[in-house]
Amino acid sequence: MSKSAISTPINSTQSNGTVASKTKLWLPKQVLITPAADSQPWGQQIVARVKDLGISVQKLSQNRITGLRGKTEKETYAIAKNTLAIVNAPPSQLKLTPIPPSADWQFHLAQGCPAHCQYCYLAGSLSGVPVVKAYGNLPQILANLSNYEQEDQDTTYEVSCYTDPLGIEHLTGSLAECIRYFGTRKSAYLRWVTKFDHVDQLLDLPHNGHTRCRVSVNADPVSHFMEGGTATVEERLQGLRKLALKGYPVGVVVAPIMAIANWQQHYENLFAKIRQALDFEGDLTFELITHRFTPKSKEVLQTWYPNSKLDLEEGDRAQKRNKFGGVKYVYARDTMTELKEFIQTQIITNFPQGEILYWT
Ligand code: SF4
Repeated sequence: MSKSAISTPINSTQSNGTVASKTKLWLPKQVLITPAADSQPWGQQIVARVKDLGISVQKLSQNRITGLRGKTEKETYAIAKNTLAIVNAPPSQLKLTPIPPSADWQFHLAQGCPAHCQYCYLAGSLSGVPVVKAYGNLPQILANLSNYEQEDQDTTYEVSCYTDPLGIEHLTGSLAECIRYFGTRKSAYLRWVTKFDHVDQLLDLPHNGHTRCRVSVNADPVSHFMEGGTATVEERLQGLRKLALKGYPVGVVVAPIMAIANWQQHYENLFAKIRQALDFEGDLTFELITHRFTPKSKEVLQTWYPNSKLDLEEGDRAQKRNKFGGVKYVYARDTMTELKEFIQTQIITNFPQGEILYWT
C-alpha cells in the first residue's frame, strides 16, 4: 500500500451527518527492531504491517535503542517523535501496578505516543527521549495478565497509561489483539482511551462486551491549540459512536480540565458537542481529570514545547504530596470546587443515563 493510500484526505460532512476524518495516520520516518523483538512472532507481525505501509525496517545488532539524540533538544524531539522502535517489554513490566481510580491494574502494549499534546502526562511518567516503543512480546504480556485475575470478582485493566493505543494501531495491531484476548476472559475487562479516531479495524472484533473504549476530549481552546497530531474532538466522538453502535461499552474522559479564560462557556459548548454526537441509549461513563503538573513534567514540557501557552505557574496552584513525598500542582480548592460543580451539572443535565466514575 502506498503512503498516500492510508490517509483519509477529506474532512467533510457525510450524507449520514457524520464527519469524515482528515487525521492522517502516523507514519514514522524510521522503524527499528531489536534482535529480541525480531525473534518474536508478534514482532514479526508488526514488521509485516510496517512494510505493507511502505516503510523499511532497520534491524539493530543490540537490544538497546541509541542514536536518537540530535544536536539540540528540538532536534532530539523531532527524531524521537518520528521513530518507531519495536522492542520487547522489559521483565519489570510483567509485574503489574495498580492504577486507581481508572482500573485495578495497568499493563502496556507500547510506550510513547506520536501526538504532540503540550500538557502530555507522559512527560512526568516516562524518562528519556519521546520515542514510540511498541512491544514485540505481546502474547507474553497478555498471558501474564491472568496471574492478576480474581476468581470471584471482576478485574479491570487499563492499557493507555504509557501510550495512545489507537494512535499506533495501524502499525501494531496490538490493541485489536488485546480486545480479542479480553473477549475470551470470564471476568477480566479492558479499558483504553484515545485522541484518535481510526476505529474501523476494531468494529467487528469479538469483544464480548469486555472492552470499554473511551475518547479523551477537551474544550476548543485546549483541543485546537494544544493537541497537535490528534483527531479533532468531533472525529473522536464519531469514532466512539461507531464503537458504541457495535456494542462496545464506551466512555468519555474529559482531560485535562483547565480553568482557561471563559472556561464555563467552552466546557458548556463541549458538552453540547458530546450530546449531539452520542445520540444513542446505552452504557456511557464519564471520567473527569483536572490539569496537574509536577516539577519534572514542567521541566520536560517546557523543553518539548518552549512556545506553549499552557499555564504551569506554581503560584496559582495548590500542592498535593504523594506518599513518597513527591509534589504535584493542582488547582486551588475554590477553583476545583467551581470546576467540579459546573462540569458535573453539565453531565447530569445532558446525560441523565451517564455514570460519572470519578473526579480527580
Ligand atoms: Fe500524550 Fe495522550 Fe497527547 Fe499522546 S495523545 S501526546 S499520550 S496526551
